[in-house]
Amino acid sequence: MKIVIVGAGIGGLAAALSLEAAGFRDIEIHERSSEIRGLGVGLNLLPHAIRELTELGLDDRIRALGVAPATLSYLTRHGQLIWSEPRGVAAGYRWPQLSVHRGRLQLALRDAVIERLGEVIHLGSRLVDVRPAGDREVARFENRDGSTADVEADVLIGADGIHSALRALRYPEEGAPPWSGLTLWRGVTVVPDFLDGRTMIMAGDPEQKFVAYPLASEPGDEGIRVNFIAERRQAGSADADWNRAVDPAPIARLFDGWSYDWLDIPSVIARAEQILEYPMVDRDPLPRWTFGRTTLLGDAAHAMYPNGSNGGSQAILDARTLAFHLATTPDTDAALAAYEQARRPAMTDLLASTRATGPELVMQLARERAPEGFADVHDVIPAEELEEVANGYKRAAGFHPSTLNERASLSVVRA
Ligand SMILES: Cc1cc2nc3c(=O)[nH]c(=O)nc-3n(C[C@H](O)[C@H](O)[C@H](O)COP(=O)(O)OP(=O)(O)OC[C@H]3O[C@@H](n4cnc5c(N)ncnc54)[C@H](O)[C@@H]3O)c2cc1C
Repeated sequence: MKIVIVGAGIGGLAAALSLEAAGFRDIEIHERSSEIRGLGVGLNLLPHAIRELTELGLDDRIRALGVAPATLSYLTRHGQLIWSEPRGVAAGYRWPQLSVHRGRLQLALRDAVIERLGEVIHLGSRLVDVRPAGDREVARFENRDGSTADVEADVLIGADGIHSALRALRYPEEGAPPWSGLTLWRGVTVVPDFLDGRTMIMAGDPEQKFVAYPLASEPGDEGIRVNFIAERRQAGSADADWNRAVDPAPIARLFDGWSYDWLDIPSVIARAEQILEYPMVDRDPLPRWTFGRTTLLGDAAHAMYPNGSNGGSQAILDARTLAFHLATTPDTDAALAAYEQARRPAMTDLLASTRATGPELVMQLARERAPEGFADVHDVIPAEELEEVANGYKRAAGFHPSTLNERASLSVVRA
């Protein structure tokens, strides 16, 4: 069976590795960029994704890239603690959560693909069209010089990100990703040690927020390498370009006064090596991912707001689930249908949770009830209410540790 994957991002590379582990060998990846440069800043892999990477035999190299956050703390914009909860192993999962540099993760997955499958990644090859040919698909790719090549596949997987060409061919009326009105600025700064070095913080409220978590240090770092996302509702561009660099100084000024004795947020922003601006966009849920022998995976299928740390993690889960069904269901159409049934309804629900405030509701409550701060958080939000917000989200999103710990493995070898 020949399988063609469109896109060598996190999802496409994870799909190739999952298919290889499940016994498929005839796999090609087509990537529009002429080079995989390992772009981006930080990304969180939830325990669900670390389980899949571990079962793919990649845990040593992936864990070496990251820091496992042990705590997530929600704070007011004045730096007062509202709610804190354990993460990863400390929260009862058998696998850690891992904060990694997106580009390093992508390069590590690419290296693993080349080691296991050989030179199967075709760079500078952009999907422009697909047409059915019997029960196969013919994908047309455009090369950098404008020439085109047709490639036949038994299965074509669109892992081509939030601006997916395959999705646009299936839903030509859809247009640009809808914008929430929030703008995100992402960056990395080396700061003096803060908290225990393994705490992820979210400070502020739904109108303006600052999220930070430690990343693995690099040679020469004096302190902790911190990935941050500063976020604010304001007029701006809704053009979702992952690589738009902007001047840090005006962004730092938006956070004047957000200085705590353990972290000075304006200076974290001002000293960033680079700031990337990105609108808070996602995609509406789709009624269908699979058409003929083509299907969607990762952001192409269900791009979400980054607030739940789900982008990379859910793409990896898609990849493993798709490989599982292709390997265990003899009929390919039935396998694609089983993949979609296993993943699409769950992703529709998760999309809705990420659009709602979710666990960040505690920040909104603190702002509404005590805009100038409080002496004791329980004077403004009772302990039971705080717990209910946190647990309600985990239940709704299916993130309870026992759900993951007890689920059967997706590792299979094709008959
Ligand atoms: C440059 C870049 C930087 C990012 N930085 C961050 C970050 O800092 N933090 C974060 O949380 N998330 C970031 N993301 C998004 C994150 O990688 C995804 O949300 C998540 O990992 C899901 O991965 P994916 O494989 O579905 O999509 P992506 O990782 O976006 O990968 C899609 C791939 O498909 C390729 N592609 C697109 N169109 C075509 C086409 N027509 N033909 C062939 N190939 C095509 C793209 O070049 C890309 O390599 C970034 C994505 C990109 C592309």
